[in-house]
Amino acid sequence: RGLLESAGMIRSEQVDDSDVIIINTCAVRENAEDKVYGEIGNLKCLKRKNKKLILGICGCMVEQPEILKKVMDTFPEVNLFFGTHEVPQLYDLLYEAITTGERIVSIESKAGEVIEELPACRLNRYKAFVNIIYGCNKFCTYCIVPYTRGKERSRKFDEVIKECKTLVDAGYQEITLLGQNVNAYGKDLDEGHDFADLMEAVAKLGIPRLRFTTSHPWDFSSKMIDVIAKYPNIMKFIHLPVQSGSNEVLRKMGRRYDRERYLNLVKEMREKIPGLSLSTDIIVGFPNESEEEFQDTLSLVDIVKYEAAFTFIYSPRRGTPAAALKDNVDYKEKSKRFQELVKHLEVSISEDAKRYIGGTYKVLVDGISKTDNNMLSGYTETNKLVHFKGDVSLVGKIVKVKILESHTYSMLGELVSE
Ligand code: SAH
Ligand code: SF4
Repeated sequence: RGLLESAGMIRSEQVDDSDVIIINTCAVRENAEDKVYGEIGNLKCLKRKNKKLILGICGCMVEQPEILKKVMDTFPEVNLFFGTHEVPQLYDLLYEAITTGERIVSIESKAGEVIEELPACRLNRYKAFVNIIYGCNKFCTYCIVPYTRGKERSRKFDEVIKECKTLVDAGYQEITLLGQNVNAYGKDLDEGHDFADLMEAVAKLGIPRLRFTTSHPWDFSSKMIDVIAKYPNIMKFIHLPVQSGSNEVLRKMGRRYDRERYLNLVKEMREKIPGLSLSTDIIVGFPNESEEEFQDTLSLVDIVKYEAAFTFIYSPRRGTPAAALKDNVDYKEKSKRFQELVKHLEVSISEDAKRYIGGTYKVLVDGISKTDNNMLSGYTETNKLVHFKGDVSLVGKIVKVKILESHTYSMLGELVSE
């Protein structure tokens, strides 16, 4: 959106009025791709009304050759295709599509240099995401990301700091440092800075809330834990994907840690960072996962006591090593395990959330609650969603809220006056 606006375009209120529509796609799981087919199906009729419409698809999905071919063959209405590495060339691609009227396909298999200072359009005036590293070198056996996003490329330390400083000066309350694996930041540069140094430098800029995601347990160093513990403005909330609690499954996934190492890391974090809250990603039904191995995941969840979790049924991704494995577990069984895990997590997360009741927590006010017009909503430092009554002038401010009730996915509170 930043690129399009700096090319002089403006956002249309209705999709039917648009001259350019670009669908950005994800390839991590098959159901994300299925949604894209539905979306193109809904949009393609607009091409009949507006012959000049540019209907584009970008992102990881079209970086897979067989999927690109499928979309190109099925939807002649789509006339622009580009991969994640071509985003900086969007002006040129659009210009070519508009002036030639031809179908433009630009998909590089190799990741190029990081382009700094791309125009950005930030919809939220208080919370900002800042990319610090692109790509991934881990090659977990189930995952398509290293193939579509390329090798790890860190942004320059000074450029990240410059962008964060601009955000702090503009009054932003929260910055989230982003990457497939933020803990690998700097390893590909010769600048002598790692992720701990970067976090520390951003924290020192004085941003009220600093977050980061995602962390791979393998690269999470003691130095990083010490920096998180030291700075009160680094939120005591870490998203630490475990994927499975079984050593055998972790080995087959190529995750580079075992259950014991993961639990030791959690122990060190908890010892050094009081009040730490953890969330995770879990995959159920990796090829040939046994019932016993699945039970290992349930027991790990009980030990760690996550405050939130994203759960997925394994989705075979063509071209990844896991997709070539013969699988002796049927989808019905995977689905049953998945439901069991979700229920298990819901019970433990809502049980744990009860400890918030009666306490007063800092909440960054996001806006009017989506479920009740008379309420505001925002997030605690540990990422709990809280609804409470308050004036709309509080949006974008950090306020204190006393928690009255806790539910599985949100809490109800009342504003505490200073
Ligand atoms: N780089 C991050 C996130 C990668 S994608 C990390 O390593 O944690 C986000 C999540 O999607 C992963 O953590 C994993 O749980 C899930 N995922 C990735 N590939 C998947 C697949 N083939 N099937 C099901 N879930 C998958
Ligand atoms: Fe995929 Fe994350 Fe593993 Fe990288 S670390 S391969 S992005 S799951």
